[in-house]
Amino acid sequence: MKRTATCGELNARDDGREVILNGWVHRNRDHGGVTFINLRDRYGITQVVFDDTCPAELKERAASLKMEYCVAVKGKVNKRPDSMINKDMATGEIEILATELEILTTCETLPFMIDGDSEANETLRLKYRYLDLRREKMQKHIALRHKVSHAVREHFESLDFYDIETPTLIKSTPEGARDFLVPARMQPGKFFALPQSPQLYKQILMVSGFDKYYQIAHCYRDEDLRGDRQFEFTQVDFEMSFVSKDDVFEVVEAQMAHIFKKTMNVDLPIPFPRLTYHEAMDSYGSDKPDLRIDMKFHDFSSLVPKAEFGVFKSILAEGGTIKAMVVPGAAPNYSRKKVSELEETAKTYGAKGLAWMKVTADGLDGGIAKFFNPIADEVKELLGAKADDLILFGAGDWQTACTSLGAVRARLAKDLDLVKWDDFRFAWVIDFPLFEWNEDEKKWDPAHHMFSMPQDEFKATMEEKPGDVIGDLYDLVVNGYELASGSVRIHDPEIQKRVFNVVGFPEEEAEERFGFLLESFRYGAPPHAGLAYGLDRLVMLMCGEESLKEVIAFPRMSTGTNPLDESPALVDEEQLDELKIKLIPVEDE
Ligand code: ASP
Repeated sequence: MKRTATCGELNARDDGREVILNGWVHRNRDHGGVTFINLRDRYGITQVVFDDTCPAELKERAASLKMEYCVAVKGKVNKRPDSMINKDMATGEIEILATELEILTTCETLPFMIDGDSEANETLRLKYRYLDLRREKMQKHIALRHKVSHAVREHFESLDFYDIETPTLIKSTPEGARDFLVPARMQPGKFFALPQSPQLYKQILMVSGFDKYYQIAHCYRDEDLRGDRQFEFTQVDFEMSFVSKDDVFEVVEAQMAHIFKKTMNVDLPIPFPRLTYHEAMDSYGSDKPDLRIDMKFHDFSSLVPKAEFGVFKSILAEGGTIKAMVVPGAAPNYSRKKVSELEETAKTYGAKGLAWMKVTADGLDGGIAKFFNPIADEVKELLGAKADDLILFGAGDWQTACTSLGAVRARLAKDLDLVKWDDFRFAWVIDFPLFEWNEDEKKWDPAHHMFSMPQDEFKATMEEKPGDVIGDLYDLVVNGYELASGSVRIHDPEIQKRVFNVVGFPEEEAEERFGFLLESFRYGAPPHAGLAYGLDRLVMLMCGEESLKEVIAFPRMSTGTNPLDESPALVDEEQLDELKIKLIPVEDE
């Protein structure tokens, strides 16, 4: 019995039609000898009725159905009387009066319910992922993901980009994470790396003249897993020649607007605001600020000399920073104890403590208020604070003052429920430092990757003051997440060599690892720039979820294991022999 309709399409206009439906038994109930089945497929749910007009044998078979049996049903569409219409169901105007039933396959006792919102534990969900994916929520997420990918392709196509695949068995790509390695059987002792991104290949494609490239690329990074990180993830990767960063921004802005309109009917305001890395850190304490939170830092240093608070004075004397943030109306709800919980957050970001005070009708109270009460009016005026506001401070070196108060800001947004998941606030963060100091190894590291261009004015002095060099780097951020990173690339082999030098990458090693890219640049490399954004991450945010596992069909646990296929797994002795690999026994910890 091959289906002639889906479980989501029939309505009153189909009254009297004879149809065959295929699907799964979502729910079954028996009402005084009449069996009702909710039959489900990807398209919806339709009620099927086996009533007294059915032959006894058919009724018996219907009564034997259990949840998630896969069945075929033949019957007649019956318009329900007005009083029986189910407005909550797309097919609620009708039901099917069954005349035939074929049980295609039965189903064992379910490890968890498919119907309803309650969620099984993660191991079970991933082990029986095929069942978990039958749940309405997961069906919606996977459908949205599909629509987003489609919109991405549609948009690139409209701009005349080429979709070009790049290899997945490659030499290492330096994105800063650990590589997954694949032994090369035909060259024992040698390994391929799985791509951390298509970075080197997309740049080479620019040298080949394909001036607008994109790919929905699978990437691999051997990093510890967490909510918004998986070993394998999908990136929308693109690169363009003869462009500036503004051209890249324009493509991304139009693409995001297209995706949101097409899949969620949301009008995203574009262009997105831009803020420099310095502004983002200085005002929000994060390089991926959540702009839904309406609290910005104020520089408090001008008032420090006017009060007798030694701690702030000495921080300023040592060249540090004092930032203040006003939490509107929060004073009555923040007891000393609750403030000390916020302080714990600040401390995990390196702060020594969290200074605070409350604004009252006639002055300041609590925390460090006594030092500032003599200049209470000036404090209120500088910060625009009013009675019942809570004032929190970030103090220390600039980085620590900003990041610790930034972490408190993010926590407050959660505690006070200040943000809505479906308020999407995109922004560009630009002008990042090109290099970052690595305190452990006492060397400069590339802040993004080694192929990003220093801005013109820093090119001459790059070696003297690496820490001051601003790169042509940019991130797209949304709601506290870094969604995309990219840069204008170096296309001049000389500048590339100098960057390698600053990050302590010996020329021979550069030659050895990326010689092929550097060599290609000697054959008329065009100026180029690009970006990649996380598709999983975007869809996760669009679904209002906090874990990538909710939008990836077959994800892994944070231990790196996939309970469905139980990978990673041991392999046969012969396979190892073939690869000339000997295992060293590992003691269990
Ligand atoms: N390859 C970079 C990344 O994966 C993105 C880019 O620079 O285009 O983060």
